Amino acid sequence: MSEKILLTADPKAGYTAHAAEIRAAIERVLEGGHYILGPEVAAFEREFADYHGGGEVVTVANGTDALELALGALGVRAGDLVATVANTVSATAAAIQQLGARPVFVEIDAATMVMSAADLDKVLVRHAGKVKAVVPVHLYGHPADMPAILTTARRHGAKVLEDCAQSHGAVVAGRKAGTWGDAAAYSFYPTKNLGALGDGGAVYSAEAAVAAQVRLLRQYGWRTRYVSDVPGRNSRLDELQAAVLRVNLRHLEAGNAKRRMLAARYLHGLGSTRLMLPQTAADVTPAWHQFTVRTPRRDALLAHLAERGIRCGVLYPVPLHRQPAYADANAVLPVTEQACAEVLCLPVHPGLDSADVDRVTGEIIRWSTA
Ligand SMILES: *Cc1c(COP(=O)(O)O)cnc(C)c1O
Repeated sequence: MSEKILLTADPKAGYTAHAAEIRAAIERVLEGGHYILGPEVAAFEREFADYHGGGEVVTVANGTDALELALGALGVRAGDLVATVANTVSATAAAIQQLGARPVFVEIDAATMVMSAADLDKVLVRHAGKVKAVVPVHLYGHPADMPAILTTARRHGAKVLEDCAQSHGAVVAGRKAGTWGDAAAYSFYPTKNLGALGDGGAVYSAEAAVAAQVRLLRQYGWRTRYVSDVPGRNSRLDELQAAVLRVNLRHLEAGNAKRRMLAARYLHGLGSTRLMLPQTAADVTPAWHQFTVRTPRRDALLAHLAERGIRCGVLYPVPLHRQPAYADANAVLPVTEQACAEVLCLPVHPGLDSADVDRVTGEIIRWSTA
């Protein structure tokens, strides 16, 4: 039997599906002779801002830089606290630490596994006046409760940066994720819903001043060439990646629709099992970056599926406050810890079809009734 290997994400399949368009875009850049901060970057920034219904996009080298430069533009400085969650990739905390600030971890909502607005309030009260910014992570493509988080953060005078690295195109209460906070940070790592063929990232903001500050920081603090106004750095997206992203942006909505279809099929197919299935909050349209089930027997199910050519992911096995680099003995996060012990991300990406989902579903049902 040589059934195909199923992956949680498959950038090669994304490339193959749009190969002719991507090759034409790359050819255009090669022949155009502009390789850094040229017409492709400018066009992609405009098109991705339009995708948000207006505002500004500033591209940077990767998603971690997007978080760091956006926090810097929002006024986070060394010694400040930044509230975020612990069930995220190291990048979220790395960006905070690069600024000399310190992450403080907020508990998650047990059903949706994203930041709890009620617990955020407690953290902001506990650290009165010290938390400069809040970074909710729209994990798995399910946006956090932005209306409640925004209200809570505003009441305590904290800025809000949305970590949209997994949520390109998700919607909350009729508005795109990313347009709620003071700014949003995106990653275009190849496996994301909107991915490049290499590293890439962007900051979105409706506020021109925030975008302008990120624009300064991404290139040596230059307002005019060769003269640094503020201490900046090099964090540029290159023209080749911007050209590829323009192609993939045109296919983002269709890709997300495919993910929604696959997710609906999983929900239906797995409804009779004892797995905890992903919960969607009212008024939310997730981007289904991941389809994440939960079981106390996660590692056994992971191994069972791997033996059958179904490679699942575990996002994320160790919460940040339990990692050596970000260890925080004061953090009490039982809901987060239980989620990290139980989550399993099944294959979901636009390169799959219904039959693939049915194959995964069938193997899970066989496992759960064995
Ligand atoms: C991918 C990701 C990032 C980091 O993006 P890079 O482009 O790899 O730096 C940050 N936050 C979350 C939630 C992510 O999934």
